[in-house]
Amino acid sequence: MAAQIAAGDRRALARAITLVESARADHRAGALALLGALGSGRQALRIGLSGTPGVGKSTFIEAFGLMLTGQGLKVAVLAVDPSSARSGGSILGDKTRMEQLSRHPMAFIRPSPSQAQMGGVARRTREAVALCEAAGFDVVLIETVGVGQSETVVAELCDLFLLLLAPAGGDELQGVKRGIMEMADLILVNKADGDLKPAAMRTQADYAGALRLLRRRPQDPEGYPRALCVSAVEQSGLEAAWAEMQHLADWRRSHGHWTTRRADQARHWFGEEVRQGLLAALTREPAKGIMARLGERVAAGEVTPESAAAEMLGLLGRG
Ligand code: GDP
Repeated sequence: MAAQIAAGDRRALARAITLVESARADHRAGALALLGALGSGRQALRIGLSGTPGVGKSTFIEAFGLMLTGQGLKVAVLAVDPSSARSGGSILGDKTRMEQLSRHPMAFIRPSPSQAQMGGVARRTREAVALCEAAGFDVVLIETVGVGQSETVVAELCDLFLLLLAPAGGDELQGVKRGIMEMADLILVNKADGDLKPAAMRTQADYAGALRLLRRRPQDPEGYPRALCVSAVEQSGLEAAWAEMQHLADWRRSHGHWTTRRADQARHWFGEEVRQGLLAALTREPAKGIMARLGERVAAGEVTPESAAAEMLGLLGRG
């Protein structure tokens, strides 16, 4: 399978992603062996894209993806959708989304799996990104709807983080949380066409002003992060947005920030895996039973919550 993926076989890639998504222990072992065999030789440009439903993410990805494939680049699209754990649905799941791009021989689109814990989503997406890189994709787009922790997860997975917004009606910033603004490398105000164009330009100017007030980040050249207008429908502003992305990526590569960011992300995910592993251990025997028994003793007033917790942590620490 590793050889097929390295040769760019998309069906093998799809099967491999199914393998890393599986919760079965034997599949897990296979997934780890596969990822190990593939190594980390190839690097794609990983672009995170966040935006609330309706801002035009799929329209944008279709237009932007087709523009990139038109330039001879191989494009993979993955989705992180924690809300699907609740609804059972999935973003990108609708076959009519990105119809042209999904049929393009240089593109690969993977809907988000439904039914997953946030920790599981992060791991599976991270591993899917690694598989796409090994399969020789030049650009990996990771889409997320702006809910819960998903932006933070995507920001920790990508080299560039884009925030897609729609033109605002009023003059207030659309309730975009400061933390998300600070994560964004580029803010793209979509739907800058027809009647919406003046509103899009006002929104873009508002965000450009707000971004100037943020502290300049060491990983950015002067004048970044920036806000731009695009129209996914009219396919305007896409080349300018791509030029900005390449400029940022090149600047970071040549200043050492690219490598540093990936190293920091690797360290972050190592810590997360350990934390998730510890939490998972609590839901399995013997820890689960001991927790339950200690919980009963705490409830009966035989031992304080604090000392019971200390006892539990001591047991876990001894493995
Ligand atoms: P998503 O939920 O973020 O993936 O948004 P969609 O891509 O499904 O788009 C939501 C709606 O906005 C659809 O009706 C699109 O046709 C429309 N839309 C998307 N991009 C543009 C754009 O650039 N201009 C205009 N006018 N409408 C757009």
